Amino acid sequence: MELKDVLQELTEAWGISGFEEKAEDVTVKHLSTYSDEIKADGLGSVVALKRGEQTDGRRYKILLAAHLDQIGLMITKIEDGGFMHMTKIGGIDESILPGQRVHIMGKEIIDGVIGAKPPHLQESGESNKVISISDMYIDTGRSKEELEKMVEVGTLAKIESEFIELSNGCLAMQAMDDRAGVASLVETLRRLQIRRHQWDVYAVATAQEEVSGLGAMSTAFRIEPDLAIAIDVTFGDGPGIPEQRSYELGKGPAIGIGPNFHPKISKKLCDLASEYSIPNQSEYAPYPGGTDAYSLQVSQVGIPSGLLSIPLRNMHSTVELLKLVDIKNLAELLSVFISELDSAFLEDLKCF
Ligand SMILES: [Zn+2]
Repeated sequence: MELKDVLQELTEAWGISGFEEKAEDVTVKHLSTYSDEIKADGLGSVVALKRGEQTDGRRYKILLAAHLDQIGLMITKIEDGGFMHMTKIGGIDESILPGQRVHIMGKEIIDGVIGAKPPHLQESGESNKVISISDMYIDTGRSKEELEKMVEVGTLAKIESEFIELSNGCLAMQAMDDRAGVASLVETLRRLQIRRHQWDVYAVATAQEEVSGLGAMSTAFRIEPDLAIAIDVTFGDGPGIPEQRSYELGKGPAIGIGPNFHPKISKKLCDLASEYSIPNQSEYAPYPGGTDAYSLQVSQVGIPSGLLSIPLRNMHSTVELLKLVDIKNLAELLSVFISELDSAFLEDLKCF
């Protein structure tokens, strides 16, 4: 299957943090094509293993982590008239919510829309502010009594959106953060079918990154990798986006540089990108946090970690936009990096 189609299937599968089952099934389907073993763990992460040749003595392991979960909505209250209040799971952009179509995942799936006070009726000063999620409601047309038979506090709401192909290789859809990373895991394992590698590769689609990073923490604890790389999205360029905090779409993956990443891993990724003429950008991150790289770095007694990121516009919206070529280049860089891993590189990591 073409990478674009893999990405479409992954983004169309649904998996809000803590409730990743459907996305888990699609991920298992695609990763299992290129791995020797695969299973989902108790927390909802998917762990695929592709064994290396291991001519270097003991079995060395690299863990690749891209998060499986996505942000979403949860019902908190049903008011008289059937208006439902909601809260966010993860950092959804509230400004994009009014006007969205949703499916309430109750005892049966119920169609709904997110409404708010019309601009004509807003008080002076209200109209130039972002409407708070507490002032929005989901309207299904049904009464409170009807809804109470099918929906309860804690029922999830799925925002409906479609996979859009735009010009110049651009694609837009919700949950590109971080199914694009999961797609890059699939593509990396696919490329490793024809590239020899010594180390065992654990490709992990991690649960719950958007709320806690628990999936990366628990899988790294269990697998005890020698080295780890997180794959996530970063800010794409665009109007009003600070130049120094954004990365151009189509110019390659961003290589994380900063205290959260082992300097020799960052350097090796940069050197290999130059050697193999793989487009890339450098992402300066002076503080740790925000991705699975932190959970990996502080797991066990500390795991040497790195970060590769795909530039993406409109983060945490229903139209997260990226270029497919950046995922391909990320997978190429990662597969080259893995094929070059040996015990000497690991020894070198211990000497700062
Ligand atoms: Zn992410």
